Amino acid sequence: MALWFQQALLTDGWHDHVRITLEDGRIGTVTPGAAPDPGDERLGPAFAGLPNVHSHAFQRGMAGLAEQAGAKKPGEGSDSFWTWREAMYRFVDRLDPEGLHAIAALAYAEMLESGFTSVGEFHYLHHAPDGAPYADPAVMAHAVVQAARDTGIALTLLPVFYAHSHFGGAAPSQSQRRFLHDPDSFARLLDALSTLDGVTLGVAPHSLRAVTPDELAAVTALAPDGPIHIHIAEQSPEVEACLDWSGQRPVEWLLAHAPVDPRWCLVHATHVTPAECAAIARSGAIVGLCPITEANLGDGVFPARDFLAQGGRIGIGSDSNVEIGAAAELRLLEYGQRLTHHGRNLLAGAPAQFTGIQSTGVQSTGASLFHAAQQGAQALGRPPARLAPGAPADIVALRADHPAIAARSGDRLLDSWIFAGAPVDSVWCAGKKRVSAGLHHARPAIEARYVALLKALLA
Ligand code: ZN
Repeated sequence: MALWFQQALLTDGWHDHVRITLEDGRIGTVTPGAAPDPGDERLGPAFAGLPNVHSHAFQRGMAGLAEQAGAKKPGEGSDSFWTWREAMYRFVDRLDPEGLHAIAALAYAEMLESGFTSVGEFHYLHHAPDGAPYADPAVMAHAVVQAARDTGIALTLLPVFYAHSHFGGAAPSQSQRRFLHDPDSFARLLDALSTLDGVTLGVAPHSLRAVTPDELAAVTALAPDGPIHIHIAEQSPEVEACLDWSGQRPVEWLLAHAPVDPRWCLVHATHVTPAECAAIARSGAIVGLCPITEANLGDGVFPARDFLAQGGRIGIGSDSNVEIGAAAELRLLEYGQRLTHHGRNLLAGAPAQFTGIQSTGVQSTGASLFHAAQQGAQALGRPPARLAPGAPADIVALRADHPAIAARSGDRLLDSWIFAGAPVDSVWCAGKKRVSAGLHHARPAIEARYVALLKALLA
């Protein structure tokens, strides 16, 4: 038995009637122009699953709860990232390992349903509600790992080092008590997680606000091979505070003081100068863009057109998980550039350098966004997903009979998935089918547990 796709995006472009066999979680054979065997599962257009480079899974539980103006005291100014963060801190105060597991499982199921097959979890909710470490200091991380196992998504776990409330080693605030480590306790946490089966482990110094230069060096030294992720230059006030502290902008400071290389993921990097943008591109690091969250929080727009034109590499992340959608993230990434530059198809073409597929002259924006986002796998310590023998069998198929892909072929299928609402039908992760007819197989149980938790939490 094998999978048979009407069309599939292989390493040298789209092919019709592609038969794929699976072997031990990997792709066995790939045969274009094949007739289906009687026992084959017949499916619509297919492509490799996408990496989600930046998630805080627990924030899925507060999606939609920070969209009302006026929940602030007079004189506090307008709603902003910083008032959203207060709402997030209040939600965090109520979560235990079971609650984190329930929310993360729903978030990961929804990621798979949308076409993400791997996720980088930027995990900073470490301790009990009073700030004391749990008896097992890795219990919250284990809740995340269990959610990934329940759903089948490939997990890169990025335990976060968080020690300060502001630049210059300022003391942490009471509401940050569940996040905090010193370098020794953090090393013990990493040690406890180092033997996890099937999980890629990295580290995440939270931001230049939350770590001192010495701590940054100590924490990055703990990940000699794994990915290193950091939030950076997300908000203008952060840039100004960094200038006051160091005389340099956040990205400028990081590139001058840390060995930033292709293992790094600079999350957001929204506020960068052309010189900083060019320097990130030269470093080979991934910029982890989270267009929906960045729009939701009013962060700003990253200069993606210029960065890709300089050979820069990006990944996309669902970050706050206020809405989970691989196609939706890519669509908003392009629309942000259109609204900024007053043009169309602005991210088309740039990633041809990554794909090796010869351009036919017409460049699809959807295909360009798709290939660019596949590069994000680098930030998860994984090879880019592809439909080729020996690759992990991470496969996404669109609904064959949906009107949004009627009479489409080739890259227009990706354009229609990203821009016209063609839905995902089926998803395999490491060779196991996890999503059918657009729904995760474990969704009923995951949903029931999630709804019961939210009713209790928000009562
Ligand atoms: Zn984040």
